[in-house]
Amino acid sequence: MLRTSSPILAPIREKVEAGERLTAEDGLVLESPEAPLPEVGELANLVRERKNGNAGYYNINTHLNATNICVYRCTFCAFRSDLRDPKGYWMNDEQVLARGAEAVENGCTEMHIVGGLHHQAKYDWYRKVISLLNDNYPTLHLKAWTPVEIDWFARLTKKPIRWVLEDMKEAGLGSLPGGGAEIFHPEIRHQICEHKADASRWFETHREAHSLGLRSNCTMLYGHIEQPYHRIDHLIRLRELQDETGGLQTYIPLSYHPENNRLGIERKIEKPSGLMDLRQMAIGRLMLDNIDHIKAYWIMLGIETAQISLSYGADDIDGTVRHELIYHDAGATTPEVMSVADIERVIRETGREPIERDTLYRRVERDAESWRAGEKIVAAV
Ligand code: SF4
Repeated sequence: MLRTSSPILAPIREKVEAGERLTAEDGLVLESPEAPLPEVGELANLVRERKNGNAGYYNINTHLNATNICVYRCTFCAFRSDLRDPKGYWMNDEQVLARGAEAVENGCTEMHIVGGLHHQAKYDWYRKVISLLNDNYPTLHLKAWTPVEIDWFARLTKKPIRWVLEDMKEAGLGSLPGGGAEIFHPEIRHQICEHKADASRWFETHREAHSLGLRSNCTMLYGHIEQPYHRIDHLIRLRELQDETGGLQTYIPLSYHPENNRLGIERKIEKPSGLMDLRQMAIGRLMLDNIDHIKAYWIMLGIETAQISLSYGADDIDGTVRHELIYHDAGATTPEVMSVADIERVIRETGREPIERDTLYRRVERDAESWRAGEKIVAAV
């Protein structure tokens, strides 16, 4: 039985209890400071437990950002580098392979691959990153390239997005991460990343990927210059895509970090509070009724907020992670890697049951030497 009692939330409570879809207007109510956060969280937790029970999912994963040199200048980005900046780097084949070897030695099931759009890199280099890793370390699931990158590859090759995805899939691409979404609404997108792939290209990429049998994730970067209606618009667009294709696995709300990037410095933006982080987690769970999983990315939120998030709608806290650069460049103070024992303890401390999953949400079964993907974890709809 729910304890929620705030009048402003009463109609929403009724809908959530009945399993009915919330409207954009409901979303704006959830955004309102008059909607008490603990009650919003309680409603999100109801949905979370209905879909995922007591599970707290994680995986053993690593990141690869094979270059940070980027033609774009998104104002929120602390990771990118100019071509001749001493901070810039561009990995060769040996460095990429070394990361694959390290990942496999450490039991990783997934490599998350994103990065800059190097002024001089040809499409073949990006493809080779995937084929080298896939050919040499076939047990690693390669979750790679946001729609911003796929759109860039389409420009480099002068081919359609579908062709790029088919070609990357042939090279070993396993699924798409959720990045590059930022805020879809043009009022904001034009101010923070005006040149890169717009919302329609982002959706086209995911739609095509799903039609090719690839699964993907989705994100929203919040807590900078956007307003609540931009965030709700963003979530509704994601929900509509999911109604159409069913290919989105996980939504990851991304909390803006203001250090070392133009947006934070020029507009003097403060980092979103922990309360804002929890509200966005809960709103994501409540609005995205057709997406199975909500992730509290501990690297970005901090471990404590990620733990609380497991009662505010989230059922997953990402993975052990190694080599994360993007949020650490923007001021994240979290560790760069967590051991399996630590991530399981972090989940268990919240009362949830830690479950190791692979990228496609299958239970991971391990023996001393190797691992295999077991049954698909089926979330209730
Ligand atoms: S967010 Fe991505 S596309 Fe934008 S500047 Fe940074 S690396 Fe480049």
